[in-house]
Amino acid sequence: MPARLLDGVSTANQIRAEIAPAVAAFTSRVGRPPGLGIVLVGDDPASDIYVRGKVRAAGEVGLRADLERLPAATSLAELLDVVDRLNRSDAHDGILVQSPLPAALGDDAERRVFDAIHPDKDVDGFHPVNVGRLVQNRATLVGGTPSGVIELLERSKIPVAGARAVVIGRSDIVGKPMALLLLHRHATVTICHSRTGDLPAVAHEADILVAAIGRPAFVTRAFVKPGATVIDIGINRLDDRVAVERIFAPGSKGRDTFARRGSVVVGDVHPEVADVAGALTPVPGGVGPLTIAMLLKNTLRAAQDRTR
Ligand code: NAP
Repeated sequence: MPARLLDGVSTANQIRAEIAPAVAAFTSRVGRPPGLGIVLVGDDPASDIYVRGKVRAAGEVGLRADLERLPAATSLAELLDVVDRLNRSDAHDGILVQSPLPAALGDDAERRVFDAIHPDKDVDGFHPVNVGRLVQNRATLVGGTPSGVIELLERSKIPVAGARAVVIGRSDIVGKPMALLLLHRHATVTICHSRTGDLPAVAHEADILVAAIGRPAFVTRAFVKPGATVIDIGINRLDDRVAVERIFAPGSKGRDTFARRGSVVVGDVHPEVADVAGALTPVPGGVGPLTIAMLLKNTLRAAQDRTR
């Protein structure tokens, strides 16, 4: 039987519908809407699409979102000045600096910028203070992708407590916070990475398998215990016909999209996993929409906490 698809779009819509009245209540209590400052440096086309999506989504639930576009040649000092201004702004409760920053800003630019955002306005949950709070299970601001996965699991009634969870990927923004959130909900968690031995066998133990790798269709059916819940966080754009035909079967939606657009987005999980998993997040339409919904929720939360 094919896997039950976990619909991120409808879950994200539910979350937005819950946020909107709370935003309206905040606005009438405080006399201004919760505010989000978004900073985009340079002209990366994918970042531009993400950022415009965030601004639009914020507006739809009644949040104020101000987008600051800075040229690619912006210096780190100039960028830090913008962050400092947003830190001191009364109108902005959340600050988001879109990643990746231009390479010319230097290797440690992202860390320095994320560290400069006030922890109370850190709606991405990247600041070390918020990471420390997450480790201690007293976080209020956790990144939208891992917290969106938890919302999806809970609203889909997938039991986490007592489950064996395997997270493939140990990045600071996805893999590690994902593992901690599952741990705090009483899963028994294993974190895997590029040095893990016999990865398919470790993954096969999982009741909940999370893939946050950044490699198209990497997780095949050999990784998946029959009936397991598989969460695909990967977003990989393919524009190579051979690679597309290797992954997607003739007549599939993936091949159809590629034929129409010349590219297709594929997750870290191979489509064949739908034949063995019990539940699966599609890509697109799974985890992606939840990331934005949780950003909106974090902005509201930050605003409520700052004005309490
Ligand atoms: P990242 O920083 O590149 O981390 C990738 C992780 O995967 C690393 O821990 C790496 O291990 C591991 N890995 C790489 N190759 C592997 C292999 N062959 N076997 C086992 N592990 C391997 O990526 P990220 O920022 O976490 O993002 C992961 C994916 O999620 C990307 O596709 C990204 O686009 C997507 N993403 C989606 C959303 C969303 O909204 N849906 C949000 C954020 C990210 P090492 O640590 O050993 O190198």
